[in-house]
Amino acid sequence: MDRVPEAGDCVREAGELRGRESEIAAALGAVRDRLDAACRAAGRTPSEVTLLPVTKFFPESDARILYQLGCREFGESREQEATAKIGEFRSRVPDPAVRWHMIGHLQRNKARAIAQWAYAIHSVDSERLIGALGRAATAAFEAGERTAPLRVLLQVSLDGDPQRGGAVAADLENLAAQVQSAPHLEYRGLMAVPPIEADPDAAFEELQNIHARLCLEHPDATELSAGMTKDLEHAVRHGSTCVRVGTALLGARPITSK
Ligand SMILES: *Cc1c(COP(=O)(O)O)cnc(C)c1O
Repeated sequence: MDRVPEAGDCVREAGELRGRESEIAAALGAVRDRLDAACRAAGRTPSEVTLLPVTKFFPESDARILYQLGCREFGESREQEATAKIGEFRSRVPDPAVRWHMIGHLQRNKARAIAQWAYAIHSVDSERLIGALGRAATAAFEAGERTAPLRVLLQVSLDGDPQRGGAVAADLENLAAQVQSAPHLEYRGLMAVPPIEADPDAAFEELQNIHARLCLEHPDATELSAGMTKDLEHAVRHGSTCVRVGTALLGARPITSK
């Protein structure tokens, strides 16, 4: 049975929250410094690169701390966890300026759930998923759950192994056209995670070249979601417009996390 609450509990919890707040505030400052330095080194302005804190595996209270520290965009990668967390967050922070991004692999039968809350999805890599997202976004419009299109970034496989997620470069043009012709979807750009063994500079350079080619056909789809805790400097050097950072902000996740 649970312990009976004691008078000191509230005080202790408030103290823990303040401890977590200062921890996250320090981490956020350090990541912003890294991002500023990376932009300066690349001759870019920091406003060109969005910091997307990734809150997967961490509680809703951490997202709220980040919100209080000025963050307005968040990334999640697991549908069930995200849907529950975002519901809780929205009931406490009813701010329409907050944007939630789906950045992880999505099964088609979860498309309807994310269409309720996702500002954008970064992990689209197949025609069948695009079809499911188009239907889901349409249903969300009809239900009054969203008023703006679902922004789509196509995930690129940089090692050509589709088992690890992502579409091969040769398929991207066709997939981008599919997104453009689907109802309530908007093609916004590309995302990639470099292969584990790869040289990040080479991988992000390849991604940048692929992105430049697609931009010839889709000049408005300028988003390039690239860079995480370990490699954000390399990604900024190669044109990233959005770095997705989890570990450096909130700490280590369980080893099995994706
Ligand atoms: C978890 C995750 C991240 C964050 O990775 P860190 O190394 O913790 O910064 C970024 N992108 C995707 C797709 C993820 O799943």
